[in-house]
Amino acid sequence: MHQCTQSEKNIESLLMLPSVFFAGPNHMMMEVWNPLGVVGVITAFNFPCAVLGWNACIALVCGNCVVWKGAPTTPLITIAMTKIVASVFEKNNLPSAIFTAFCGGAEIGQAIALDTRIPLVSFTGSTKVGQMVQQQVSARFGKCLLELSGNNAIIVMDDADIPLAVRSVLFAAVGTAGQRCTTCRRLLLHESIYQTFLDQLVEVYKQVRIGDPMEKGTLLGPLHTTASKESFLKGIQNIRSQGGKILLGGSAIESEGNFVQPTIVEISPAAPVVREELFGPVLYAMKFQTLKEAIEINNSVPQGLSSSIFTRKPDAIFKWIGPHGSDCGIVNVNIPTNGAEIGGAFGGEKATGGGREAGSDSWKQYMRRATCTINYGSELPLAQGINFG
Ligand code: NAD
Repeated sequence: MHQCTQSEKNIESLLMLPSVFFAGPNHMMMEVWNPLGVVGVITAFNFPCAVLGWNACIALVCGNCVVWKGAPTTPLITIAMTKIVASVFEKNNLPSAIFTAFCGGAEIGQAIALDTRIPLVSFTGSTKVGQMVQQQVSARFGKCLLELSGNNAIIVMDDADIPLAVRSVLFAAVGTAGQRCTTCRRLLLHESIYQTFLDQLVEVYKQVRIGDPMEKGTLLGPLHTTASKESFLKGIQNIRSQGGKILLGGSAIESEGNFVQPTIVEISPAAPVVREELFGPVLYAMKFQTLKEAIEINNSVPQGLSSSIFTRKPDAIFKWIGPHGSDCGIVNVNIPTNGAEIGGAFGGEKATGGGREAGSDSWKQYMRRATCTINYGSELPLAQGINFG
């Protein structure tokens, strides 16, 4: 009786893995995943360490080194995070250079985008900059993972739990001063509940406490920079010039810091400004008659990050999450567009870039796959009919 050698036993155990295939007598085929090498991570100001974690943890577990560039306005977080990570490596007798960080702006981002030693660049930021980075990385045949701008809608149907939807819209549109990629920017209301809903929303908006976000009870802190405040004011001008009616807010607050009022606007979905991401607490309210129309409005913008519907009707829920429903990467039901971001695959379609961080198979983006066929015999079946002497 044939006694298995150790190598045959090894091969047999490999054959039990799902990615190992039989490839003919004395041949086996398997898919091997290897690290990419160095992964570049460029992050936005508004998630100065979470986005790094979503990328760097998987990249490192997959055996890569990481080069990180944080936002130029959040250097202290970049330095603090890097020190924490370095201390873990040092405690485990590993070189801390496995994880390297830079403080700086566009010039460092450019250096990462153009460097052929960095096969994957994970970029989180605006669509405008992300598109440029993607073109540069693609031109050198590198890979890009893009997490770009959002323009997220909440649809409220006529049968929705209105108090739940009002709470959710407030949290999604005003929380973090509207400076999340998943902030709700468009509110689509069924015509039969339009006025009731807006009246209730305006009432709760009036109770929002604006101030130091470190103080308990504050819901609305300042915008990140003076430039953010200027962009809010320019956005309000555009809204007015395109026929938008300001129902509440619409001004900056005269005080130290970049505080602005939480703002609700009544506007047509056809107004060009509605297609853009205005990075502040500005909510566009719109009316619809049918679910089909609401889905069309939801899908009519260039971005495709997050979306939510409030309804109890199973037919509406399954239409919404199906092929003729929301075209976004995040498609929620009876919860806001934000707040449950990570755990599943996170990311969006269209001008949001198509990238996915976390979730079931995201690790594959941080690795390269080799298909290996191993001949452990001495036959070459494809060489039949030729006499090699
Ligand atoms: P941004 O595009 O201005 O900057 C993002 C990063 O890119 C920064 O680190 C910046 O220094 C760098 N950068 C700037 N110019 C560059 C260049 N030419 N080459 C390479 N890198 C360059 O974005 P921001 O204002 O910091 O962040 C807000 C934007 O990020 C919003 O649009 C928001 O929706 C988006 N965002 C998206 C997600 C997501 O997961 N989809 C998460 C957070 C933020």
